[in-house]
Amino acid sequence: MAPAFAAERTLGKLGKWLRLLGFDTIIETQCPRGRFFEHGGSRIVLTRTRRVMTAQAALKPVLIRANDPFEQLGEVVRAAALTPEDLRPFTRCLRCNEPIVPVPKAEVQRSVPDYVWQRYSEFSTCPRCGRIYWPGTHTTRSFEKIAEYFNLKD
Ligand SMILES: [Zn+2]
Repeated sequence: MAPAFAAERTLGKLGKWLRLLGFDTIIETQCPRGRFFEHGGSRIVLTRTRRVMTAQAALKPVLIRANDPFEQLGEVVRAAALTPEDLRPFTRCLRCNEPIVPVPKAEVQRSVPDYVWQRYSEFSTCPRCGRIYWPGTHTTRSFEKIAEYFNLKD
């Protein structure tokens, strides 16, 4: 099974990248105050601070060094030994981490721009926030970059 992650507050962008790839990822800013590290037992904690590395040593957090979210993702790929088989791209809401579910095209006509409705035939929605996703929502180009990255890993 693919690992799940808990991303510290400064790693929100990285957290969204992980969600885009399908990884169950909670982000500290979306957690009730003081409860974040409780997730450490079942999730890989990602942090940028050495203080956390020491204070939460029992959780074996992963120290992220890079500033660029894409490079940070590379660090996670290596630290967690992620493989292409772990990827479930475009299956999760970027905003709330919930798995998205397919929704009939007819039901979204009034919720998406006309050109989107005309151009795409497959839509999904987030059961929690109601956001609607279609193949063009997540920029394909970014994903190509990531796919390339994972292939290079092999
Ligand atoms: Zn959502």
